[in-house]
Amino acid sequence: MAKVIELNQRQDQQRRRQRAQARRRAQAVASALACGLCPRRCAHCGLAIEEPVTLPSEAPYPFCGPCLEEYQAFRRRQQGQEQPEAFWHNDAWARSWSTWLEFMRSKEEFRQSAAFLRLMQEHID
Ligand SMILES: [Zn+2]
Repeated sequence: MAKVIELNQRQDQQRRRQRAQARRRAQAVASALACGLCPRRCAHCGLAIEEPVTLPSEAPYPFCGPCLEEYQAFRRRQQGQEQPEAFWHNDAWARSWSTWLEFMRSKEEFRQSAAFLRLMQEHID
């Protein structure tokens, strides 16, 4: 009988550990997806936006002034501007913007998925 009780206690401990681990993972997923959503932080560089920037309608995320200028330079390049506006506006720079924008879109898509909503409902208070 004592062995049965001990086994039940061990199984309970294991279930509690698994629930705690699932909860920590859900919180990590939620935190990762929250990055870039705060309107007072630049979605691109993460710095606090001290001076409010009037964002043009094509800006998909809150940007600080310098990141907005970089984003707009990237967009002009995408639209065919061939002359770089700064020496660092090389192919790698353009790829980093393009990849970052795709990353942000994929986070939005995941955030709106049924699986994400279920994860939040089941593991976040
Ligand atoms: Zn910024």
